[in-house]
Amino acid sequence: MTPIFIIDRDRVERAIMDLGAIGACAGTGVSRTTFSPEWVAAQELVGQWCRDAGLAVRMDAVGNLWGRAEGSAGGKAIATGSHIDSQTPGGRYDGALGVIAGAIAARAVLEQAGPPKRPIEIVSLCEEEGSRFPSAGFWGSRGIIGTIAPEDPERIVGYDGVTIGEAMRAVGLDPARIPDAARDDLEVFLELHIEQGPMLEQAGTPVGVVTGITGIRELRVVVHGRADHAGARPIDLRQDPMDAAAAMIHAVIGVAKEMGRPAVTTVGRILVEPNFPNIVPERVEFTIDSRNPDPEARRQQYARQDALLREIAEAAGLEMTTEVFGALDPCPCDPEVVRVLEEAARAQNVPVMSMPSGAVHDSQQLAARSRIGMIFVQSKDGRSHTPAEFSAVEHCAQGIEVLAGALYRLAY
Ligand SMILES: [Zn+2]
Repeated sequence: MTPIFIIDRDRVERAIMDLGAIGACAGTGVSRTTFSPEWVAAQELVGQWCRDAGLAVRMDAVGNLWGRAEGSAGGKAIATGSHIDSQTPGGRYDGALGVIAGAIAARAVLEQAGPPKRPIEIVSLCEEEGSRFPSAGFWGSRGIIGTIAPEDPERIVGYDGVTIGEAMRAVGLDPARIPDAARDDLEVFLELHIEQGPMLEQAGTPVGVVTGITGIRELRVVVHGRADHAGARPIDLRQDPMDAAAAMIHAVIGVAKEMGRPAVTTVGRILVEPNFPNIVPERVEFTIDSRNPDPEARRQQYARQDALLREIAEAAGLEMTTEVFGALDPCPCDPEVVRVLEEAARAQNVPVMSMPSGAVHDSQQLAARSRIGMIFVQSKDGRSHTPAEFSAVEHCAQGIEVLAGALYRLAY
């Protein structure tokens, strides 16, 4: 008979508080950047949790911490985890809850069901946010799928002026050994993560089963005009890139509004040159973060946005340049893994709903080498990347119960 896993709420709360104390700032905030002293202390704590659960612990060549229970039948591993780094400041839950969940779920399953048939691994991924090294997002998961370029360690420089290679050496890792971190023996990767949005709370549901992770494109747009006097130059004789940029921003956001959920588009950064109240600007630069989990809808979304940008630039008679500086294809979760998660939720008596992920996650990288599934836990007010981030212990524990049930179904 398939066991039911009851997760101790106090253990979950204690783990959230203990991990949240490492790098604590701004009250309930956490600032824990990759390869910092706080990061080292957090990985040590996770290692202790893994040893307490009876797992063999090692750190791989990029800085991910792994705990492993061997399987009696061998074969590829059933892995779970998330990232241990945070935004600066972020909250106690983003990434951290998935690592806590892995350690607690693995311990519950091993204690209650004994040694697994398939190996079970939990992983604390070293760098997801890119909050210390802006172009090193997904460093840990990219190390596992083998997509870190040989020149990256010395090429990628952090906000503190230190290369990621130097930062690795400072914590005892050798960048030359990064290829050793690659794995081709992961059968399934399960990631529990906070939702970071309001959908579960609005539905009154504690836990979500993710059907797929959104596709994203980040575009940099520069509109070139001519600087002129804000008073002396008549309005009809200007080459004003601000006027065109404003129309463009309105238009591209309008495409997502017209398409409706789950399409989103965000312009979160604008640079104006010169940046003065009484000068028509010479140049306006802005970014467009545009996401959709459906491959065909995403293609249409970008095509419509690109066409509008071109039309507006042409109508204004201004030169425009665009550059894609980030892109990830939509990533469907494995249908069989989704079914296992839903079955585990039913058996554990945890109410769940199916939903896409509008945020990008390590799972998207790891999908290149394993079948993936994700569990979302309700976020209070949908807040994340802020010290205000909060998830109720009850909801966290319910998510971990689904994870434990899924680990059992996949590994025993
Ligand atoms: Zn995260």
